[in-house]
Amino acid sequence: MNNQLSIYIHIPFCESKCSYCNFPSTAGENNLFQPYFNALQKEIIAAAEFQNKLSGKINVTSVFFGGGTPSSVPVKFLLKTLETLRENYSINNNAEISVECNPNSLTKKFADLILKAGVNRFSLGVQSLDDNELVKLGRLHNSEKAETAYKLLRQAGAKNISTDLIYGIPGQTKESFKNNLKRIVEKWMPEHISIYSLSVEPGTPFDKWKKNKTKNWLWPDDDTVMNWFINAEKYLSANSYTRYEISNFAKQGFESAHNITYWDTTKNYIGFGAAAHSYCYLTAGTGKRRFRNIKSIRKYIERINAKQKFRFFSRELTHKQKIGEKIYLGLRLTAGVKLSYSEEKLFENEIQQQINSGLIKRKQKNIIALTKRGFQIANSVMAEFV
Ligand code: SF4
Repeated sequence: MNNQLSIYIHIPFCESKCSYCNFPSTAGENNLFQPYFNALQKEIIAAAEFQNKLSGKINVTSVFFGGGTPSSVPVKFLLKTLETLRENYSINNNAEISVECNPNSLTKKFADLILKAGVNRFSLGVQSLDDNELVKLGRLHNSEKAETAYKLLRQAGAKNISTDLIYGIPGQTKESFKNNLKRIVEKWMPEHISIYSLSVEPGTPFDKWKKNKTKNWLWPDDDTVMNWFINAEKYLSANSYTRYEISNFAKQGFESAHNITYWDTTKNYIGFGAAAHSYCYLTAGTGKRRFRNIKSIRKYIERINAKQKFRFFSRELTHKQKIGEKIYLGLRLTAGVKLSYSEEKLFENEIQQQINSGLIKRKQKNIIALTKRGFQIANSVMAEFV
């Protein structure tokens, strides 16, 4: 097997739950920190032992601490986890090591210690710089705190910062989204910007409020927000941020190496912790498989400690399904997806149809990518290959 690996560490703890969030995370269960990180350590050691045996010493090219809110747990837990990774895997000297932070919980101590431990990329969950919008989202920070957190990271020595922004927030206007983005680009100048359209997920407070019309909010419609995004893309491009994925923009050389592994099926990644997803070799005698860990934090801890099953493997895909998945995910990248002659042959009708409709283009003879119009309806174009 290819012995390169990216590692995701899931930190399922937050200070409070945001109103739109359906990510696997919990708030107010600080008593679980210690047992959770103990279990995490056991999972890492056992997986590394297996993987190193299977393919020689594994080379780790990126590590990503995500969540949840990694900056909301005492930094000693993250430092210990990083140490465990270094003891059990061979982490490349130039590996990208990222940590997600929230403006409300980020402290100088956290930033100083985590940088010293080798973290070299930060993803700051800003979401908006309009205080009313932040209140609606249920975030704990305001715009001033977001700016302070950004400055704190820079002063601590962070050279690679990404900021997340959400658009399509109830009551948000074209101007307010534009102002959020403008302030970040012109005042902060981060290396990387991710912009996500607000998605109302089942079971969240937003879902209930929208269905029951509980709040007297104006929910921007899809066409309106798509236009905001098109303008944002133009603005970012004029300011040296290149779009390299559906929602991600970076200054040259600052594309997230870790995130790209999710969209390139030739790469391997393993996720540690409750609800974490993986795509790699982890069972003797089978091919590369997708799997996910049990979602419940308590059950994850119990099962790891009792050496019981905590991973759920997806079914083995046929060759054609694997190629369909390669195309489906690869099309998220503006660089497109490289296909061999035989791979393209399996989907030649679908590809030709989308080329005829102006939604897919050929970047090179063997590389296909979405066109500008294709990106606007990316989900429906990509669905052709599932
Ligand atoms: S901080 Fe992130 S993970 Fe935590 S509740 Fe808010 S959106 Fe969800």
